[in-house]
Amino acid sequence: MPYARDEGLTSAVGVGVEEGVGLTALMVAAARAIETHRPDALAGDPYAEHFVRAATVSAGWPVRPEQVPDGEADPLWGRLGRYFGLRTRVIDDFLVNTARAGVRQVVLFGAGLDTRAFRLDWPPGLVVHEIDRDGVLAFKHRVLDGLAAVPKATRHTIAADLRDDWVRPLAEAGFDPAVPTAWLAEGLLLYLPPWAERGLVESVNRLSAPGSVLACEVKLGVESPQVRASPVYTVARQRIGVDLLALFDGEPRPDSVGHLKDLGWATTVRTPFDFTYHYGRGPLPVPNDSLASNRWIFAGKS
Ligand code: SAM
Repeated sequence: MPYARDEGLTSAVGVGVEEGVGLTALMVAAARAIETHRPDALAGDPYAEHFVRAATVSAGWPVRPEQVPDGEADPLWGRLGRYFGLRTRVIDDFLVNTARAGVRQVVLFGAGLDTRAFRLDWPPGLVVHEIDRDGVLAFKHRVLDGLAAVPKATRHTIAADLRDDWVRPLAEAGFDPAVPTAWLAEGLLLYLPPWAERGLVESVNRLSAPGSVLACEVKLGVESPQVRASPVYTVARQRIGVDLLALFDGEPRPDSVGHLKDLGWATTVRTPFDFTYHYGRGPLPVPNDSLASNRWIFAGKS
């Protein structure tokens, strides 16, 4: 598309995709790759399997349903994978609809290996800003460059630690606070300390023109020992070396819904299961459920 551009900004923020929380971006990419090849896929991401194959640590992970030995019964690539597929579809639809409604700027916090700038049909003039650590973004650039991938929107990548000042680098990348913005924190906030989450909400509010929207995923409260013992956490740790319980921030979670309401935003809180019923597939509740405390928040500023 004639307006497509790809401008990378980098600074020294360390940490690659093959370590720590960067690994979770590969885990979600593998789940999206598997989802893409399901006959009843809710979302398709043709780039996802290339990320998984390109990183040493994940090169042997499954990228297709037939490579998952236990199939749908697998706690990681089955149920949690379905969750990521559902989440991808819900957010895809949300962002496409907000762009149709007039939003012309999208900010992806903790963008990881999200390829929405390349996958979704954006209106002309839309800008996508992707914020993550430089190691993750460098890996993403390398893989996408190797595929000669062309974004369908103007795309800026911003290397920043979201526990530090991300507002200034975002402004330097050309973010325009006068333009209605769609902000997304997908699979991110549970890794941030509460003060960083509160700061993020405050900055989003300050930088949001009327008509802006925010979608984010939160976990309510602290999971019980029974939930923390659920197979998905053990399997992720033992099989692919992703210790989610160690990566989640251990502090009590802030009330970001209340915070947004106090700042005058209209909020809707949904469970993932609401969307399982809506789309006809996805995870359903189980006892001692690691997904039971997950909430997807959709908020708007008028
Ligand atoms: N949003 C993407 C998606 O859903 O596919 C990636 C989700 S992945 C689970 C979490 C991402 O958040 C990783 O890419 C990680 O590098 C990023 N992240 C976590 N903490 C961060 C921080 N303090 N600053 C910047 N990025 C961070």
